Amino acid sequence: MPSVFPEDSVLTELGKALVGGSLTDDALLAETTRLPTMRILPDANVIKIGGQSFIDRGRAAVLPLLDELIENLPDHKMIIGTGAGTRARHAYSVGLDLGMPTGVLSVLGTFVSMQNARMIHYLLARHGIPFIEPAQFPQLPLYLSERQACVFFGMPPYTFWQPNPAVGRIPPHRTDTGAYLISEVFGARSMIFVKDEDGLYTADPKKDPSATFIPEATVAEIEAMDLADVVVERSVLELMRHAQSSKRIQVINGLVPGNLTRALNGEHVGTVITS
Ligand code: ADP
Ligand code: MG
Repeated sequence: MPSVFPEDSVLTELGKALVGGSLTDDALLAETTRLPTMRILPDANVIKIGGQSFIDRGRAAVLPLLDELIENLPDHKMIIGTGAGTRARHAYSVGLDLGMPTGVLSVLGTFVSMQNARMIHYLLARHGIPFIEPAQFPQLPLYLSERQACVFFGMPPYTFWQPNPAVGRIPPHRTDTGAYLISEVFGARSMIFVKDEDGLYTADPKKDPSATFIPEATVAEIEAMDLADVVVERSVLELMRHAQSSKRIQVINGLVPGNLTRALNGEHVGTVITS
């Protein structure tokens, strides 16, 4: 179909194809990856602090991790996302009991991850580290250059627009996913998940003492293992299959002193999962 735009001559070949073509044409869509995406914040590390697995453990877990985080501020920029955890699961259970759909459960989870972000923020406040809501992400580069770090809530701000899961009704895109998507869109240097286990095992080590540790795996390998449960949200693995930038994530045990520092320094600690 000929384009109606008179400035056709200033358009690139791709521009002409997009303006005149169909955005559901696979061949045309494939053309859009010919140029790489830019890495907006290639020096920043996204760190997700687990809710249930970490923040819910209180000061014994959180304070040493934050001390280690502060020690690393001179050397590393950090975008710190928070999980939601046990309180969100309680809210989900009440919501389910009252017949709430997934999109409303997503709203509930968002506020719990925000509670955790607020507390992490106040613990870091004397270092000048701000908390930002999604609308404040345009200020993120300024905060990173001024203070080296910033706290956000991990839940992607979909609220009602959260998709229904394939099984059940719990929002499938939760705080691991929200943090991962930030690492992807900003082309971050690393995506580090801080939890309470050494990384991915063949089964949940809390339930199966014979579970064996998996130091590294690709997303395809993990899929082939057909594990009953995994250490990060399954939607992170699904999204990694189509990653443009964030093709490597690392899951570490933040209860072990030094692990965060080692991960920030690019060492292989915990489990490394690649696209
Ligand atoms: P977060 O607090 O970041 O939301 P979760 O509690 O949702 O983290 O997920 C981390 C937990 O996943 C670990 O504490 C572990 O008990 C559990 N888990 C389930 N399956 C696995 C597995 N295959 N390998 C490692 N941990 C697993
Ligand atoms: Mg979780």
